[in-house]
Amino acid sequence: MEEKKVIFVTGGSRGIGKEVALKYAKNGFNVVTNYVSSKTDVDALKSEFNALGADSLIMQADVSKKEEVEEVVTKAIEKFGKIDVLVNNAGVTRDNLLIRMSEEDFDKVIEINLKGTYLVTKAVTKYMMKKRYGNIINLSSVVGVAGNAGQCNYSASKAGIIGFTKSIAKELASRNIRVNAVAPGFIETDMTQVLSDAVKESIYNQIPLKRMGKASEVANLIYFLGTDESSYITGQVINIDGGMVM
Ligand code: NAP
Repeated sequence: MEEKKVIFVTGGSRGIGKEVALKYAKNGFNVVTNYVSSKTDVDALKSEFNALGADSLIMQADVSKKEEVEEVVTKAIEKFGKIDVLVNNAGVTRDNLLIRMSEEDFDKVIEINLKGTYLVTKAVTKYMMKKRYGNIINLSSVVGVAGNAGQCNYSASKAGIIGFTKSIAKELASRNIRVNAVAPGFIETDMTQVLSDAVKESIYNQIPLKRMGKASEVANLIYFLGTDESSYITGQVINIDGGMVM
């Protein structure tokens, strides 16, 4: 029997990360994932992956802390021997207008979204390079492409992820490792649940498809990018936003 492939998706406890983990589990992958808040019911999550035939490693680890990242990656390699696909999904917002944005909120978002992506990618790439195989998909955002008032910290982190993606796509192509970014628009998750109805209405007016996207729709794109179906695509940023940014 062919050995199962392994995906490591950061922030798989809910939202897009969880849908990504479920999509890969359904398609024969074993799953490594992490979360940060102690609210996560690890046993319940493990059972969901198990029901789809996937073995899993689920750990509490902050992507912005190097030691915690290295511990997850080491444990994943001990358990599964490899990581075939890495999805840098964990992310946060701390929105405010520039004039009111604290240095703490600016730093926090950059540390988790951008530095976290660097730390996890560096730790995993070491093993992918040895295997001469890998797929990395980074979560950017349409606001990293187009900007958004009230999100200068978040937009900067997501624009940074685009530069990071393109640079390492060039560095790692010779090792048979592809690196791409996806840039979602407004997707129904906890992150967007906090928006008022008035804000949601004004958002719909900017989206040609007139609705928010679903986490499962983003997971479908991330699945395509993580398999050999997309074998000639690297260094790209693919928008998934109902046509919001063209
Ligand atoms: P979400 O529902 O808020 O879930 C965030 C996930 O990240 C959770 O699993 C959370 O873990 C984890 N996380 C947060 N900080 C972490 C840290 N320091 N270390 C490890 N894990 C951490 O978010 P989402 O809407 O699914 O978004 C997922 C990704 O897509 C993010 O990068 C986001 O920026 C991007 N994105 C989302 C949208 C959207 O409209 N939703 C649009 C564009 C891009 P806990 O459960 O433990 O808190």
